Amino acid sequence: MTQIYFQKGFGLAAEVGPDLARTYRSPVVERLKQLGYEASAGDIRVKLAREFGFCYGVDRAVEYAYEARQRFPDRRIFLSGEIIHNPDVNGRLQRMGICILPDSRDPASRYLEVRGGDVVILPAFGVTAAEMDHLRRKECVLVDTTCGSVLNVWKMVHRCARDGFTVVIHGKHYHEETRATASQALIHEGGRYLCVRDVPEAAIVCAFLRGDATAAMVRERFANAISPGFDPERDLQRIGLANQTTMLMTESLEIQEMLRAAMSDRYGDAELGWRFRAFDTICSATQDRQDAVLAMLDRGDLDVMVVIGGYNSSNTQALAQMCAAGLPTFHIDRPLCIEDSAMIRYRPLGGGAETRAYGWLPEGPVTVGITAGASTPDIVVGDVVEKILGLRGYTASELTGASLVEDGSSSCV
Ligand code: SF4
Repeated sequence: MTQIYFQKGFGLAAEVGPDLARTYRSPVVERLKQLGYEASAGDIRVKLAREFGFCYGVDRAVEYAYEARQRFPDRRIFLSGEIIHNPDVNGRLQRMGICILPDSRDPASRYLEVRGGDVVILPAFGVTAAEMDHLRRKECVLVDTTCGSVLNVWKMVHRCARDGFTVVIHGKHYHEETRATASQALIHEGGRYLCVRDVPEAAIVCAFLRGDATAAMVRERFANAISPGFDPERDLQRIGLANQTTMLMTESLEIQEMLRAAMSDRYGDAELGWRFRAFDTICSATQDRQDAVLAMLDRGDLDVMVVIGGYNSSNTQALAQMCAAGLPTFHIDRPLCIEDSAMIRYRPLGGGAETRAYGWLPEGPVTVGITAGASTPDIVVGDVVEKILGLRGYTASELTGASLVEDGSSSCV
């Protein structure tokens, strides 16, 4: 029987490796790492977080997409939405002839132009159970790059739903990963979910549990974030918590404690054992990047922070939120956000349209901290470093004190 489901790549890593390295590696970043993640040029100092950029799940997803192109040179290849939240990476895949499908909650509409035999790449965030069923029925060739850390969350969700708990997910109800995770609860008979985005939303659920908010208030506030037919009276009697893998760890822990306390107030401590479960499902890559930022902030020697990543990237937003609590922070999604005139375009904390800041780089000696979300390749980080140096007339070679010409592939010469 012909294999039509691939979850472990095609064994073409050696073939696509050079292309991936040429496209996404940065000699500037590699040299900075060799120099201890920080270096100066004149009166400007650049410090990189110890962990940043592409995570293991994104590395794998992008590699499998390249392998799929190589393995099926003559087939139509589609991607279920963006493979990761990075415009540059998605653009490159499109130029390789991979078509990114529009977002839609209805599988029939999302996969309208996909036919049996077409190749469909499923992203690192995963897809909903309904989409998976739809694609299997169409007999598409599926290249499933769902990250192992996301699959672990799904396992927790399955256990909770199977045991009669409503799954409460700390995540954004509209995010692909959270939609896919929530859909796993519905596979089980009577399975329910509720997505809580942040502390204020968790407070509403707590108020309901303590009798300070009505079921109607919960249904109205979470209209797009609950399973069909959700009844707060019935469905909040036993809850199991999980996270979108890329949320802010401190916020997840706070929400966990809020809900535990509210369940205890309503049912008493003795009941918690069978009414409340909590799992930390923040992935290790997200945790490592958040820990690295905390370590940078703790040293207290930064003047300004630049956080690089897609504007709809949750893990990048979490990094920006952490940094903004301590110093001026600019979340940018491409090197061109930084203009020669020292003007920067950035995503404001909390969302909204891209905005501008003038004179964002302080005069005189300055230390700039840089980190990047899990879907940002090193080449973009390196280009941002060069752009910042260029504002004061320096080059990457002056920063690192080394020749960065390597295999003719450097973007900085
Ligand atoms: S951020 Fe975490 S869960 Fe998401 S792809 Fe990367 S490693 Fe996997």
